[in-house]
Amino acid sequence: INHEDGSVTYRSNHSYPPVRRLRPSERKRILVTGGAGFVGSHLVDRLMLMGHEVIVLDNFFTGAKRNVQHWIGHPHFELIRHDVVDPFMIEVSQIYHLACPASPPHYQYNPTKTVKTSVMGTINMLGLAKRTKARFLLTSTSEIYGDPEEHPQKETYWGHVNPIGPRACYDEGKRIAETLTYAYMRQNDVDVRVARIFKQLLLLLSILLIIIYFLRLGPRMSPADGRVVSNFIMQALKGEPLTLYGDGQQTRSFQYVHDLVDGLILLMNKNYMDPVNLGNPEEYTIKNFADIIREQVANSSVGPDNVNIKILPAAMDDPKKRKPDISRALKYLGWKPRFAVRQGLQETVDWFKLQVEEGLI
Ligand code: NAD
Ligand code: UDP
Repeated sequence: INHEDGSVTYRSNHSYPPVRRLRPSERKRILVTGGAGFVGSHLVDRLMLMGHEVIVLDNFFTGAKRNVQHWIGHPHFELIRHDVVDPFMIEVSQIYHLACPASPPHYQYNPTKTVKTSVMGTINMLGLAKRTKARFLLTSTSEIYGDPEEHPQKETYWGHVNPIGPRACYDEGKRIAETLTYAYMRQNDVDVRVARIFKQLLLLLSILLIIIYFLRLGPRMSPADGRVVSNFIMQALKGEPLTLYGDGQQTRSFQYVHDLVDGLILLMNKNYMDPVNLGNPEEYTIKNFADIIREQVANSSVGPDNVNIKILPAAMDDPKKRKPDISRALKYLGWKPRFAVRQGLQETVDWFKLQVEEGLI
């Protein structure tokens, strides 16, 4: 213990990533639900490196212990297997509520469970926020806009969702999670934040690149995730045709997970309570995205020179357009994405390639 500033340094035989030393009065105790998932584990890394105390709640449905294994045993870190559908008691000052499967094959696998996770999970975490007076941040999604009639999508748009389609368990689940969030704000004075996230890529470029690389914190996008980025890259690396659903004219916007983590932390710590879009306004048709991946895999040293595209039937209720209007994030958080999509896509391809070569996936 440093008696001058009260800070504590822990020694152990493990080598952990170098966390910042905060005074106990500056160090927050933060709960991250879904912290063993793709976005959650990157958020956990950042909060840990900032010197906070982090508790992860996860049922490991789509997440994995290995995503946070580099922190296990660290005195600032705790990993708890828990399903957010069941209540949970703890004392914390901030709650990042991410727990929910996010990829269509995952959330459609057990749709009633997806709804329970969004509804009961969010009620439980809001109840915890109410009791402990913790600030609560919900990771909502661009999917609440459904198949939008407004383009790009502003936060003021109310959305166009089919309430009984195959995507409804996720889209409507997140819509009611937002409703619950603002109901607890109005009725119980819970201090809330809502991020509406647009799709992300994981790419390694960021100020954290060196730390991530050397500490092998790893990108952690699962090859079995089922979403377009991992599907196309894995298919192209294996020389299989890319599965394009429909005519490929539907659009999506992709952002770096580290840009997103910046946005989530800024939002949590600013004084702004309305929903905020976090996404990269660069918009790609899925066909165009497939061509970029084919080109990048062909340019890489081991990728096949050419892979075909196989057209499959369009997915039901597939939104035709997605592009965030991020003027609110810029105005109230001073946030905008720092990285262009093409800038780092090659690195994602290279990372998957290395994993395949080393037989890790
Ligand atoms: P992910 O599937 O990798 O992570 C979700 C995590 O939540 C996993 O670790 C999973 O095991 C856990 N989880 C699921 N149900 C749970 C339950 N009932 N109890 C406890 N833990 C549970 O997904 P992700 O891409 O990291 O998404 C994280 C959050 O961000 C989600 O809320 C998602 O809706 C939101 N989001 C993600 C994207 C995206 O493109 N990745 C886009 C919009 C919104
Ligand atoms: N898609 C595709 N081939 C795939 C996976 C996805 O053409 O192998 C399309 C899908 O129909 C959608 C877009 O890519 O239009 C993004 O799909 P994803 O599953 O990543 O998530 P969504 O944005 O639809 O939630």
